[in-house]
Amino acid sequence: MLDMTATIIRNFLTKPHTRLYPITVREPFENVRGNLDIEIEECILCGICSKKCPSQCITVSKEEKVWTVDPFACVYCAICVENCPTHCLSMDKHHRKPVKVKEMNRQVQVKGPEKKK
Ligand code: SF4
Ligand code: SF4
Repeated sequence: MLDMTATIIRNFLTKPHTRLYPITVREPFENVRGNLDIEIEECILCGICSKKCPSQCITVSKEEKVWTVDPFACVYCAICVENCPTHCLSMDKHHRKPVKVKEMNRQVQVKGPEKKK
């Protein structure tokens, strides 16, 4: 009984060990792989990320100048990030927000060089 009383008094006098989520959100740790991000202006549509991806969730179309990722198939392994020759891929530390509708693809149009006529 005495042990429990001491614990109760200590709990009243110390700060709680939990946070009032989502009011108080903890900053993510360093190197957390939360979301795949792309600096699309730097992409040269080489397709290496697509070939290396173990989930096959990246599609690169050089003809249509479109880079596509399926975030629901991505396992956030960062292999694409490590292999991109222009370093335009990165891992955002913050996780994607929950969604009501499943968006299958995030398409980005790349502004590549115009073809010479
Ligand atoms: S590896 Fe990098 S530069 Fe090549 S297509 Fe993928 S994102 Fe673009
Ligand atoms: S993080 Fe991994 S699974 Fe996700 S797109 Fe890149 S290589 Fe594919």
